[in-house]
Amino acid sequence: MTDTKTEAPTESMLEWLALARGTLDRVAERRRDKEWVGAAWADPRTRVFTIEGGRALVSYDPGPGLVFTSPGQAPEGERYLLGVDDEGVAYFAVRGELPAIEGAERAGLRRVGALLGDQDSGLLTHAVALEHWHATNRHCPRCGAPTELTAAGHVRVCPADKSEHFPRVDPAVIMLVRDDADRVLLARGPSWPEDRRSILAGFVEPGESLEQAVAREVREEVGLEVGDIRYLGSQPWPLPQSLMLGFFARAEGVQELRPDPEEILDAAWYTRDELKEAIESGRIVSPGPLSIAAQLILRWYGGPLPEMPPF
Ligand SMILES: [Zn+2]
Repeated sequence: MTDTKTEAPTESMLEWLALARGTLDRVAERRRDKEWVGAAWADPRTRVFTIEGGRALVSYDPGPGLVFTSPGQAPEGERYLLGVDDEGVAYFAVRGELPAIEGAERAGLRRVGALLGDQDSGLLTHAVALEHWHATNRHCPRCGAPTELTAAGHVRVCPADKSEHFPRVDPAVIMLVRDDADRVLLARGPSWPEDRRSILAGFVEPGESLEQAVAREVREEVGLEVGDIRYLGSQPWPLPQSLMLGFFARAEGVQELRPDPEEILDAAWYTRDELKEAIESGRIVSPGPLSIAAQLILRWYGGPLPEMPPF
């Protein structure tokens, strides 16, 4: 592979993102309809899985899949209505203790988010996000009173002042920076293993556009000015509550890399051949395919990378 590769493949959106594959109708319009939600819970066709600390039971026979029960067999606990499939079957997650079931494993998104099928990956991603939000938002931000779950698990309401509170998602930009020679910039974060490298990322600040956040983060982290900022796709990243928004950006002309030592321990440009060699020789480990970072790198690279770590 040469470094003069055409840029055409970078124009289209990312196609496969491990945690952005949900298939269900989320039936948001049904969540406050207590009669409908009650009937769905009473329907023995309804499928329920338990969520505990970001993990659910997964079985691998025949293939990786969530372990479901009927509502009658589900534990007591907060219920989250996640959606309805094409057959009209409703899906709920219940926050509770994971039972021990022979042949099933307790697993979270990092372990199985990319292994599960589209529907189950979407269900687990949704449930993990809701569970974390409920667990960390139990009091009213206005008056401090304990809040209560409502809207089938998608809202918390304060009984004292009637204010409603909705699940929060933190937008974060993640950007693959290229230079005029179409080299990719990879960096190591301060708490990462010595051989780990990835592209740059950061949270969007209040009052800031996504493009402004991309430019600011690149400037802060490595001292480069970037333009030609292009959006390529997003995936939820409820670890614990982000939405990752993926971009390509270009650093034009000759610019000096000036890594911020508090955020970046190492930053360097790689041609495709250099990246391939660095990974093959074990000098660097690139992100696993669960992350949007890996999918952006693969898009730039133009094909599979050697030695991509397991999910
Ligand atoms: Zn309140």
